[in-house]
Formats: sequence, C-alpha cells, structure tokens
Amino acid sequence: MVNSRKLPEYIETAIIGAGPHSLTLVNHLLHKKPKLRSRVMVFDPSGEWLTQWRHQLEAQEIIHLRSPAVHHPAPNPFALRKFAETRPSELYPPYDLPGTKLFQDFCDHLIKTNGLEKLIFPAIVTKIKPLKPKNFQLQLSSGQEICTRRVVVATRADEINLPPWVKNLQPPTLVHSHQVDLRSLNLQGENILIIGGGLTSGHLALGAIAKGATVDLMSRKQLQEKLFDTDPGWLGPKYLKSFEAQPCWHERYDMIQKARNGGSLTPAVMLKLKRLTREGKLNLQENCQVTHAHHHQNQWYIKCENGQTQQYDRIWLATGSKFQAQNHHLLEDIWGQYNTPIIQGLPVLDKYLRVKGAELFIMGGLASLRLGPTARNLSGAIKASNLITEALVKPSLYLD
Ligand SMILES: Cc1cc2nc3c(=O)[nH]c(=O)nc-3n(C[C@H](O)[C@H](O)[C@H](O)COP(=O)(O)OP(=O)(O)OC[C@H]3O[C@@H](n4cnc5c(N)ncnc54)[C@H](O)[C@@H]3O)c2cc1C
Repeated sequence: MVNSRKLPEYIETAIIGAGPHSLTLVNHLLHKKPKLRSRVMVFDPSGEWLTQWRHQLEAQEIIHLRSPAVHHPAPNPFALRKFAETRPSELYPPYDLPGTKLFQDFCDHLIKTNGLEKLIFPAIVTKIKPLKPKNFQLQLSSGQEICTRRVVVATRADEINLPPWVKNLQPPTLVHSHQVDLRSLNLQGENILIIGGGLTSGHLALGAIAKGATVDLMSRKQLQEKLFDTDPGWLGPKYLKSFEAQPCWHERYDMIQKARNGGSLTPAVMLKLKRLTREGKLNLQENCQVTHAHHHQNQWYIKCENGQTQQYDRIWLATGSKFQAQNHHLLEDIWGQYNTPIIQGLPVLDKYLRVKGAELFIMGGLASLRLGPTARNLSGAIKASNLITEALVKPSLYLD
C-alpha cells in the first residue's frame, strides 16, 4: 500500500531504496537507537518494502534461498529460526535454507511489528546534490525536493552483463534473465537457449522445462557445483582477515573476482538438471560460446565457436551483472566533488562505507572493496548495517 506521508523540508537521514539491504540497515539502526525513527525516511518508487526482491524470486519461481537462515534483516541472527519454529518444513537442507515464503513472511512480520511501512516515501530519487557546507538535496521524480544531513544509497546499483554478440535485447525472444517472468509463460513445444553458468541459469532451465520447453544450457566454462556462491570462509576471519589487511585496492578487486569466480549451481539444482538431461529435456553445452545470432521468421539462428548452427524460439541471457560506479546516475556528481577513487568500477569508501569526506554511505556490491565478495548478498547487508549503524549513532564518528 502506497502511503501518503507528507514530504518534510528536511530529514536527518535519507535511505534510498527499500530492498533487503535497506531493511537490514533500518532494523539494526532502530534496534540500536529507537528514537532515530522519526529522523529516518526511506525512498522507493513502489512505496513498499522488498518489491524488487519479491518480484525476482517469484518471477524465477525460486523455492528457497541459497543463503542460510542466519542471513536475514533482523539484528538477532536466530530470529528467523525462532519465527520458523512452527514451520520446520520450510527450512531446507543442508543448512536450513529458508523457503522463499517463510523468508517473506518473516520480513513482513519485522516490518509490521516495527511499523516500518510508515518510514517509506513513494518516489524515485533522481539526483543527490551536495550542498555547502554540509547536507545534501535529494530531487525526486515527483519534482519535489528534500534536504538531508545523511544519505544511504541502497539501490542495488548493478548493470546487466551482455555477451558481445548481443547488440540490442529484443523482448520477448531475446532477454536478460531479470526480464523473464516464468509465471506468465506457456512454453509448450518451445526450444530455448539459456546462456550462463550460475544459479539463475539453472532456475530458469528448470522453470522453462516445467512449462513444456526443451532447453539448451550453454556455459563458456565447465559448470561448477557449489553450495554457496562464495566460500563460507568469506563470512569470517578465515579469508576476510587477509582481505582487510590488503592495502592495495587492485589486489582486493582481484581477490573478489577470484572468490566469486563466475557463477555456480547448487548440488540440488545440478542433480535436477542432470536428471532432465537423461530424460532428453535438457542439453548441457559446456565450454561453448555463441559467435553470431540472427533472427528470422520468429526463430533465432545461433552459430557457436564449434561452427554448429542451432535454432531456438527464445534466448535467455543469465549472464549476471557488473558494478560500474562511474555510470551510477545518482552518484555522478558525488565522485568528482569528493575525489573518490574508482577501481575497476568500485569506489574506495572509508571504513564505515562513507564516500570519503561525506556523510553519504553506500551499501551492496558497490561497497565490495570494503566488505569483500559477499557485499551484494544478505550477509553483506548485515556487515554493512553494523558499520553504518555505528557511524550513525556515535557522534564521535560524525564528520562535522
Ligand atoms: C534471483 C535472486 C536470488 C537471490 N537470492 C539470494 C539469496 O538467497 N541469498 C543472498 O544472500 N542473496 C541473494 N541474492 C542477492 C541479493 O541479496 C539480492 O540481489 C537483493 O535483492 C539485494 O538487495 P538490495 O536491497 O541491494 O536490492 P533490491 O532488492 O534490488 O532493492 C533495491 C531497491 O531500491 C529501489 N531503487 C533503485 N533506485 C532507486 C532510486 N533512484 N530511488 C529510489 N529507490 C530506488 C528499487 O526500487 C528497489 O526496491 C539474490 C539475487 C537474485 C537476483
């Protein structure tokens, strides 16, 4: 429900985006200092919490999360397990991975019990303008403006990766995975090419086959099987200690790339894919890349490195996303104003995830040079929330 909260002229802390990262921060912050409630405002065009998150899981018909039950927006790591006491069948093996519905209900419970709907103002922030000597002005899609002392950007600022042979996406037959909504599709008798080797490609292949299609899953590398997208050693000191001790940002970037190492499939999804391969509904094409694509009379003709040409009704690109801070339209004035170094698309932030010299914090993948390879995940949201909360509640850490 979009609320009709009136826009004040000034708010102490503005949070842009109402996804899981923002929700985690708000829960941590208000747990630490409840009286900040009246001084925080969250902006999201939907006017509600988790709209985008909910959409992406439902569109791919994802049954359970990949991350374990301790990764969620509440400050107490065991809160989700406690909430699930009467719903044990919705915690999936091997590490109690929360079911999508359970996770959503838990978040709704947090939002309701803490009255967090009231914090959201329904608008897109179109610009963040630094004001002298401090403060920022946020410009909204509605044409309104608000002045704020502190800003947190929690917008998931990634850009889709497209293979070089894709000049333009051509919906509905050539789309990126985030545009696919399995719920609305009837794929009976269709032949679909899915490109990618991550969990999204696996989910889409399972979904498409369940809706009557046959699928070719093409990956430029050998498909990798991993329980989590990064080694759990990155959640604690095992790997983070040497990451945080590394003074060279380029080295840190390389460590992140190496840790994520492209995409991977969970053992459970891999098992299902192998079964479908045996049943003849799925063809796995590993170590293979498209060199050329041509669309003619509702069919895609694909030429691969091996010289073969194949024909498909649709192509789905599960080719992931990348972070390019310099292209982030909300932050384009900020980088220059505060002389922020950008390393391979990632900004160098201070240890509380602030743009150096500004009360402007960044959560999510763009904070990877500080948080490591899990920055974009729910565990990264928890780490970021702890750091940002500290900087928001301790006057000794304020920049003025
Ligand atoms: C299919 C899928 C499954 C995933 N599963 C897991 C998992 O199991 N475990 C895990 O740890 N991670 C998972 N992730 C990774 C990550 O947790 C999610 O991508 C998550 O949605 C990131 O949260 P977020 O808050 O950064 O972004 P989002 O959920 O995208 O929320 C950002 C919000 O910001 C709003 N916004 C954007 N721009 C503006 C603006 N200018 N003004 C105002 N509002 C704006 C958007 O409308 C959106 O609501 C998954 C990702 C995907 C795609």
